[in-house]
Amino acid sequence: MWTDGDSTDEITVRDPAAPEDPIVAFSGASETQAEEAVSAAAAASDNWAATTPDDRDTILYEVAERIDANRDALAETLTREEGKPISSGRGEVSRAAEIFRFFASYARSATGETIPSSDPETLTYTVREPLGVVTLITPWNFPIATPSWKLATALATGNTVVLKPSSETPMIAKQLVELLAEVGVPNGVVNLVVGSGSTVGDALTTDERVDGVSFTGSTETGQHIAETVATRGIPIQTEMGGKNPQVVLPDADLEAAADAAISGAFGGCGQACTATSRLIVHEDVADELTAAVVERAEALSIGPGLDDPDIGPAVSAGENETNLEYIEVAEKEGATLQTGGGQPATPEAGYFVEPTVFTDVEPGMRIAQEEVFGPVLGVIEVADFDEAVRVANDVNYGLSASIFTTNMAKSRSFTKQIEAGVVKINGTTTGSHVQMPFGGMKASSSETQKELGQHAYEFYTHEKAIYRSDP
Ligand code: NAD
Repeated sequence: MWTDGDSTDEITVRDPAAPEDPIVAFSGASETQAEEAVSAAAAASDNWAATTPDDRDTILYEVAERIDANRDALAETLTREEGKPISSGRGEVSRAAEIFRFFASYARSATGETIPSSDPETLTYTVREPLGVVTLITPWNFPIATPSWKLATALATGNTVVLKPSSETPMIAKQLVELLAEVGVPNGVVNLVVGSGSTVGDALTTDERVDGVSFTGSTETGQHIAETVATRGIPIQTEMGGKNPQVVLPDADLEAAADAAISGAFGGCGQACTATSRLIVHEDVADELTAAVVERAEALSIGPGLDDPDIGPAVSAGENETNLEYIEVAEKEGATLQTGGGQPATPEAGYFVEPTVFTDVEPGMRIAQEEVFGPVLGVIEVADFDEAVRVANDVNYGLSASIFTTNMAKSRSFTKQIEAGVVKINGTTTGSHVQMPFGGMKASSSETQKELGQHAYEFYTHEKAIYRSDP
């Protein structure tokens, strides 16, 4: 059942490539409506937890099939409101299907353990039980993949949910939730709240009926949620920002390193938490690598996502202004602009910014420390491997990192020393496999159980240790 929002917050969805005419505008949910969503999830909780694993697996697998069957329509919605190139939109929708398919099987495989008992008369084992009601809060940059991996994991393990997507991308979230209802997910099991974070956020996270919170978004919001929910002692998962380095040593394949830097820094208009924002290069190859990166950056096409360019627009006017502000800050701090640096001449409308490369970036500059979340890459020169690792680690964040080298010992040493939750050897900082755990360190993550991978169900379940001595 859908209800109109009754707050005074206006949610306006725009195509960031043609923002003059809003796609749709409506009132966001109020605090009372957020509480009603929690009530609905709480009321449905026992029945959903009592469904068999087979039923949950079947229904979530069916969600995957429906997502695949509706791929093009879902991708179009996604691209219209988020802006990414339509081929990336289709890729993300297919990924969402893959996620539901993979995590559906958690319903049957999220197991406890049988553990050798110290007492021969006692059987000792653990069981996993759903938390109950979980609140899922998601950002706009992967607006179907991120809700999908939280939803699929939570539902497979028997939880009911309240999903609050970003106000920039509510349409794709609504389509996803409609699709869940179509395949037979019962009323109250999944509840969508479209509303401003400042209006509904606290109601969705501090309500005593909420048994867990999984958040993905900025570090600032994540820390706010962690602080407000901390006293309740419920599981909280916060996956947040990044300032991801790609290190390049002199023995590296420089062509491959340049390709990876381009894809990592400018894919998705730099709007990935794992985007490459620092290219930390050995001084012996810095000029050659920079030239290769600049040449590739200048060859990238920019345009509306539906035209399938290399780079679409930033998601919003605010994000685009932030990109342009950071470019100004970098120039003021003394970095040298190699290419890009402003809005392209065409397209004229839309939140476009050119792929931008700065050299002479010093590790302490704001452009080297703060998350820009746009297509801006800073090249930092270093004298050796040790300095590269020191610079790579010298930020608050610790999400993803990569190194390009043919030296096995150096790459092994990098994996040990680097402070990042995802580490790539000769690969981009972006991209991950559903069967691999995903999450960061330091200010990038609360470092509870990671998302994705073989054990993501642990966050969504209580573990009970059972000692069974039969009479
Ligand atoms: P954001 O923090 O502004 O918003 C994220 C979500 O939180 C949105 O749904 C928003 O409405 C909600 N929110 C805002 N205030 C809230 C409050 N007080 N209480 C509860 N919810 C509230 O982030 P964004 O701009 O949507 O996304 C970009 C950020 O997300 C970047 O920092 C990026 O690095 C990060 N991100 C991280 C990951 C990861 O896995 N580490 C993945 C994608 C994006």
